[in-house]
Order: sequence, then structure tokens, then C-alpha cells
Amino acid sequence: MAKTSTSKLDPLDLFDVRSALTDEERMVQDSVARLVDEKVLPIIQKCFEEHRFPKELIPELAALGLLGSSIHGYECAGLNSIAYGLICQQLERGDSGIRSFVSVQSSLCMYPIYAFGSEEQKQRYLPRMARGELIGCFGLTEPHGGSDPANMKTHAKRRGKDWVLNGSKMWITNGAIAGLAVVWAMTEEGIRGFLVERGTPGLATPEIERKFSLRASVTAALFFDNVLVPEQNVLPGVLGLKGPLSCLTQARYGIAWGVIGAAQACLAQLLDYTADRVLFGRTLAHNQAVQIRLAEMARQITAAQLLALQLGRLKEAGTLTPAQVSLAKWNNCRMALDIARDARDLLGGAGISAEYVPIRHMLNLESVITYEGTETIHQLTIGRELTGISAF
Ligand SMILES: Cc1cc2nc3c(=O)[nH]c(=O)nc-3n(C[C@H](O)[C@H](O)[C@H](O)COP(=O)(O)OP(=O)(O)OC[C@H]3O[C@@H](n4cnc5c(N)ncnc54)[C@H](O)[C@@H]3O)c2cc1C
Repeated sequence: MAKTSTSKLDPLDLFDVRSALTDEERMVQDSVARLVDEKVLPIIQKCFEEHRFPKELIPELAALGLLGSSIHGYECAGLNSIAYGLICQQLERGDSGIRSFVSVQSSLCMYPIYAFGSEEQKQRYLPRMARGELIGCFGLTEPHGGSDPANMKTHAKRRGKDWVLNGSKMWITNGAIAGLAVVWAMTEEGIRGFLVERGTPGLATPEIERKFSLRASVTAALFFDNVLVPEQNVLPGVLGLKGPLSCLTQARYGIAWGVIGAAQACLAQLLDYTADRVLFGRTLAHNQAVQIRLAEMARQITAAQLLALQLGRLKEAGTLTPAQVSLAKWNNCRMALDIARDARDLLGGAGISAEYVPIRHMLNLESVITYEGTETIHQLTIGRELTGISAF
């Protein structure tokens, strides 16, 4: 009978997903992990407490090629989808706020310019965005309800060769630090994408203060009061809701990978804690009830990793559908939030302390499970896929 290997498994990668990666993907994983260990983890809890996005990390993220990493040309790294997923996963091991910054810059701003922009727009914006010299934001959600973007009130009207933009956007990541906003607005022809530069008269971007979640990320409202946008700043290649939705598919893909990192960070800390903490004469790890909870976390992380890997393969094959991304975003966000909450509980009182990571991840994940489509919206998307009936 063949002997089962006794080599110790990586508790954060029980099915050895790493062995399914190419050398290049492993290299990306290692270099981003190093960046997170050396630059993000030492400062991130303080940033969270101070409600401050660590802008000083932008040059480091850019230098590693993490901004617009999937784009070919325009000074971008041209990495594959799995590598992009691994980037998100390592960054979110640090903090969802850092991953959100990269997701928005890459998937929600650089991607639409790359996919739907004119050659002149690509040349004008993408290299500066890849270098981190120009920060982008993505304005889709409006104050009256983000789950129903088709009911958009922000509108643009033609005035001669230009457009006049009026309306508002809410909950916009990077909004207060962005030099460029990709804004989706209703026109007579349907929804179109507008590239609005900071400093354009009539544009205001007040930061949303007093958040309990994603405190190391900038969130803002955008107000447009007769903002004049030249025709050359309209994305020529897309019309209708499929424009913003295709960006969201890219970003949700990254989230499905990213949140695994947050869950791994919680489990890693919990394994140390339960090994050391002695109650009733034995470590917490000696209790069946504790082991079952740790095993449950490992089970969920492993399933999420395999799901993300297959999602990446579908994306690489060009067959990925939005419903598949919805299932992964839903499953993996739920998985990470449940693990963060349970890890918080298993740490007892220490679980509410800034000395431990689960409560920060837990609070962040409350945003991550809400933005880019709430859990309910993704469930309804799968429901529609199964039944053919739209129940939104
Ligand atoms: C920190 C943060 C950053 C964000 N960044 C961005 C960004 O960069 N760009 C951007 O455009 N947006 C951004 N968002 C907005 C985010 O995408 C929206 O908050 C989200 O889509 C939900 O919209 P809403 O908040 O208006 O909630 P609503 O749409 O008002 O939903 C309220 C509740 O109703 C539920 N619901 C909605 N419809 C149905 C239905 N048919 N049946 C049953 N239940 C339903 C929802 O699931 C939710 O629980 C961000 C949000 C946060 C919190």
C-alpha cells in the first residue's frame, strides 16, 4: 500500500495551490508578500486608527508593476489573471484598503481606458497611472441606491462639441485623492463613460469621514455642477450599462482572490494564539471545539482558493461569465467575513484589540461584502442564472 506523505502541509494552503502556479506567478506572489511584510504590515494598523490611506506606498506599488498589472503595453506589466489574483490576495493579507486602492486603479480606471478608450486617451493616461503619478477613481454609485445603477440620475448633455455633466456619486474609493475620475452618466444615447480631470470647474470631491470600515482607504462623494467635459474625454468604445458592469467584473474577480488573503491573515494569527493560550490547564488548541473551528476555517479557505484558481483559469481561457464572478465574489467574501468574525471571537477580549488583526479585517470586510454588488445582488444574479427569471 502506498504510504501517505508525512510532510507537513502549509496550514494556509492545505491543497498546495501554490504548486499549481507557474514560476512567474510564484515570483509575483513572493514579491508582493515581501512588500506587504516589509512595508504594509508595520504601518497599517496605525493608518487604520488614524483614518489615513498610506499614500507613501503608491511609488512602491507602482515600482513592482502592481498598477494596471494585466494591461499589455503603456508601461504596464502585462501579467496574467492568476498573477493579478495573487497580487490582490497578498495585498489584502495586509489590508482590504490597500487592495481596494489597487483594484480601483487597475480594474475600474485603467481597464476601461484600455478597453474602451481612444489611442490618444490610452497614451495620455495609462503610463502615468502605471507609474502611480496619476490616481484614478470610478464613479458609478449614486446616493439614492447603488444596487440599481440603471436608474442613474447623473446625466450629461451635449453643448456644441463638449458635454455638460450634472449630478452626484457616492462612496467613491480614491475620490478625494484622484486626479482622474471615470464617471458613468446618462446621456440621450444611454450610459457613457466620461474622463473628468481634477481641477475641472464645478467638480467637488469631499471625503467621507467617520467610517468604521476601510479606514486606511479614501472614500469620497463626487459632485458635478455644470462640469464641462470635452468630447476627447468621452470613452468612445462603449455605450450602456455593459461599460461599468464589465469593469466591475474585472474588479470583482480581484476581490474573490483578495479576501482569501484577509482570511489567511486571521487564521495565521489564530493558530499562534490558540497554540499559546492556556486555559483549564491546557492550550486552547487542545480543545476539540477549538480544533473544529480552526478546521472549519481551513476548509473554507481551501475551497475559496480552489474556486479562485478555477475562476482564473476560466478568465485566462476567455470564457469567464459575470455569473461565475458573482458566485465567487459572494462565496469568498462570505467566507472571509465569517472567518474574521469567528477569529475575533476565539481571541476573546484580545479580539477587540488593535494588537490583533481579525477585528480590522472584519470591519473592512463589511465594506468588501457590500461594495461591487452586495451579497444579495450576487445571490439574485445566480438565481437569475438558474431560473432565467430576473427577481431584482
Ligand atoms: C467603502 C466603500 C467603497 C466604495 N467604493 C465605490 C467606488 O469606488 N465606486 C462606486 O461606484 N461605488 C463604490 N461603493 C458603493 C457600493 O458599490 C454600494 O454601496 C453598493 O453597490 C450598494 O449600494 P448602496 O449602498 O446604495 O445600497 P442599496 O443599493 O441602497 O442597498 C441597500 C440594501 O438593499 C438590498 N437590496 C437592493 N436591491 C435589492 C433587491 N432587489 N432585493 C433584496 N434586497 C435588495 C442590498 O443588498 C442592501 O442590503 C463603495 C461602497 C463602500 C461602502
